[in-house]
Amino acid sequence: MKPVDRHLADILAAVGPLAPLEVEVEAALGAVLAEDVASPVPLPPFDNSAMDGYAVRARDVAAVPVTLPVIGDVAAGDGGLNALGPGLVTRIMTGAPLPAGADAVVPVEWTDGGTARVRIDRPAPPGNAIRRAGEDVRAGDVVLREGTRIGPAQIGILAGVGRRRVLVRPRPRVVVLSTGAELSEPGTPLGAGHIWESNSFMLVAAVREAGAEGFRAGSVTDDPKEFMDTLDAQLLRADAVITSGGVSMGAYEPVKEALSPLGTVTFEKVAMQPGMPQGFGVVGPDRVPIFTLPGNPVSSFVSFVLFVKPALRAMQGLPAGPPATVRAAVTAPVRSPAGKRSYLRAVLSRDTEGTGETVAPVTGQGSHQLAALAAANALIVVPEDETSLPEGAEVEVIPL
Ligand code: AMP
Ligand code: MG
Repeated sequence: MKPVDRHLADILAAVGPLAPLEVEVEAALGAVLAEDVASPVPLPPFDNSAMDGYAVRARDVAAVPVTLPVIGDVAAGDGGLNALGPGLVTRIMTGAPLPAGADAVVPVEWTDGGTARVRIDRPAPPGNAIRRAGEDVRAGDVVLREGTRIGPAQIGILAGVGRRRVLVRPRPRVVVLSTGAELSEPGTPLGAGHIWESNSFMLVAAVREAGAEGFRAGSVTDDPKEFMDTLDAQLLRADAVITSGGVSMGAYEPVKEALSPLGTVTFEKVAMQPGMPQGFGVVGPDRVPIFTLPGNPVSSFVSFVLFVKPALRAMQGLPAGPPATVRAAVTAPVRSPAGKRSYLRAVLSRDTEGTGETVAPVTGQGSHQLAALAAANALIVVPEDETSLPEGAEVEVIPL
């Protein structure tokens, strides 16, 4: 059997970042920057007031109370040059440019609020309530680096440095296709011998959570031709494809039957539980990566976490590798088959009294037990060479 780490390495060797694309800033949410973004100007671009108040010469208000003539107003957006002579003040609003000659702002709260003359009750030291040009960003400073995931704050600074368009790695478009003659659509009556189709919903959600765009292609029966026709039709819009089911050792395995003859998809047994039968390769003229995951719901989920999620990161130009783990003490003895790495569904509890984290395996470790998966928030990793671990043993845990 192929080791888990080698399967992931093979996948990461075969997928690369998607070609960069210029998009409108509004459309960049969730994408990954494909360029360094610098500011063409300092931010703020000019010295301006941090408060509503009066622009003054600090030395004129050193001794208070003092009453001084108000020669005018400067509002935010005023572009005209105005200068302040000794003994004079102007009203000034937040964000308005500081007049030449002024070196402090007295907040309106420290005054009687006068418009012709103003009484100032507290001295303002030089620099008071002034936002200096360039104190956020200097001209030419890189504000966002290539490889940064763009969230709302990153959209903000892109616009803040004047960008309308930006070069990104787009969110990979991932088509999810389930197979199985036994699958009924949720929301429709359950036929005899049927179960409701859940994997494509789960995997599309996992794709979206991983920062990519998921499209549910629904499910097909176990007819290899129907599978292949649907796959062909879906390839047009896909940067990657995930299939579920139809790759085991039995009969009626449409994914294996349809893709094996192509010679571009490899079906293997990976030394893991759940999720042993795995397939990976490329399909279609554009050589779109395809992950053929086993159909058992827990198997497909664990396979996604271990193999597809890192690949989606690589396609987005992000650092990619095995999922991050934490260490925790297991609250009950666990068993694991020899020669396979186990991923047990578990509940990880955060450290509260400095006693360290603990992790409790959930009841129901079968690869079909979806409710147990839904009750878990972590996977306990039991190495290939361990067949049992006692209560209290330190284990590696993948938080979900
Ligand atoms: P397979 O990998 O096709 O042999 O399927 C393994 C098991 O997973 C069977 O019990 C299937 O009924 C179940 N299964 C396969 N696909 C799905 C799906 N999309 N949703 C829920 N269960 C599935
Ligand atoms: Mg099947």
